[in-house]
Amino acid sequence: MKTIGLVGGMSWESTVTYYRLINEAVRDRLGGLHSAKCVLYSVEFAEVAVLQREGRWEEATQLLLAAAQALEKAGAECALICTNTMHKVAEAVQAGLRIPLLHIVDATAEHVRRAGLRRVGLLGTTFTMEEDFYPGRLARRFGLETMIPDPTDREQVHRIIFDELCQGRIQPAARATLSRIMNRLAERGAEAIILGCTELGLLVNEGDGPVPVFDTTRLHALAAVDFALPPGAAA
Ligand code: GLU
Repeated sequence: MKTIGLVGGMSWESTVTYYRLINEAVRDRLGGLHSAKCVLYSVEFAEVAVLQREGRWEEATQLLLAAAQALEKAGAECALICTNTMHKVAEAVQAGLRIPLLHIVDATAEHVRRAGLRRVGLLGTTFTMEEDFYPGRLARRFGLETMIPDPTDREQVHRIIFDELCQGRIQPAARATLSRIMNRLAERGAEAIILGCTELGLLVNEGDGPVPVFDTTRLHALAAVDFALPPGAAA
């Protein structure tokens, strides 16, 4: 079994989910007392959020690169950035590593494509929905077309992520809001919804949408387990 490196803490609420899903998947595959070999570097999210808000992406890159390099030194054989938003700097982080960075867009898009779907509604922070790093990779590498909510709905999703989910507040009103936003995307023609924020799965289940829902946290965690434990590999 290979060792998985997690750059987490963005927020730690979703890093907990990664840790649980990775260990559950290893247990499901190997049974008994088996668990994942993991190294976690958990950052101070308030520091990262300031860099995001102020557009200081070069500093954010250095912060995540230092964390990922520490994982590499600690024996990690792959690295995951446990947030969609910070994949804005994923290519720069990968460039400073010897181990592979497992990209959250790739882990997700492969499943969307396998399901034969092409037009996806994307929910996430405004960075993820509005900038090119995420929809651009979906289009260029996987031929997927991205639809995003209208500006008011985008602001709502962003607010729910930062003011509620990243602070551990799981509220029925937010669940209803997300449900309405998913319905509007489906009415406009989205064939699938990507939960493109690692906290959204705390609020919405994959069975909850009007169309198939793809949870990036779950699919990214499973990609890590596939890497650590290729089919047929022994513990
Ligand atoms: N975890 C979230 C994401 O997947 C938002 C937190 C962040 O800005 O990194 O995008």
